[in-house]
Amino acid sequence: MVGILGGTFDPIHFGHLRPALDCIQSLGLHEIRFIPLNVAVHRPPPLAPPALRLAMLEAAIAGQTGFVADRREIERPGGSFTYHTLVSLRAELGRERPLCLLIGADAFAGFLGWHRPHDILELAHVIVMQRPRPPVPPDPGLRALWAQRISHDPGELAETPAGRILFQAVTQIDVSATRVRELVRQGWSPRYLLPDAVISIIESERLYR
Ligand code: ATP
Repeated sequence: MVGILGGTFDPIHFGHLRPALDCIQSLGLHEIRFIPLNVAVHRPPPLAPPALRLAMLEAAIAGQTGFVADRREIERPGGSFTYHTLVSLRAELGRERPLCLLIGADAFAGFLGWHRPHDILELAHVIVMQRPRPPVPPDPGLRALWAQRISHDPGELAETPAGRILFQAVTQIDVSATRVRELVRQGWSPRYLLPDAVISIIESERLYR
């Protein structure tokens, strides 16, 4: 099974990295593709340019078995829609390999507003990672989808390429990229919230000041 973690990664931090490692281990994933977006469609644009967000990601995951930086969204012009990313991953990995799209619980609350959410579930399973702070109550449509698709067994996911939703408890790390950027902007240290190698890039490139 291949996991997919998309995001702005502006910058990547331990709230991405530790939950991703939890998912690799708990779900038995062979790898996780970290896919930085190019053009945000549901949120304000990232502050750091794509090449530097990718460089920070590569520095953060260097040496971790199973963690892979995937540049397909950065190399694709226009809005970064998850649906298109999954179509392109399917073209690379084939139809049969189970794909697990990892989404934070806050992001999942808006899932039905994404581009072609039902088609996304034809292409991948959705793993909802529990995030610090109370989850936004899902709307009735999302609850119905959840009820139809819910699975509690990673083994079940491994047997089918796509279509299930699984709730995965992950280490609660109350850090967001917004907080990291805010600390740097104020001249405070963001240390221990993200890898030192990422902080070095932030400093040398004078990001988020
Ligand atoms: P920002 O503060 O700029 O909105 P972010 O910290 O939420 O950024 P993203 O790159 O937007 O980071 O997140 C990518 C994915 O990782 C999303 O699915 C998000 O829900 C999840 N995620 C981010 N931070 C955490 C965290 N602390 N714990 C669990 N999941 C997280």
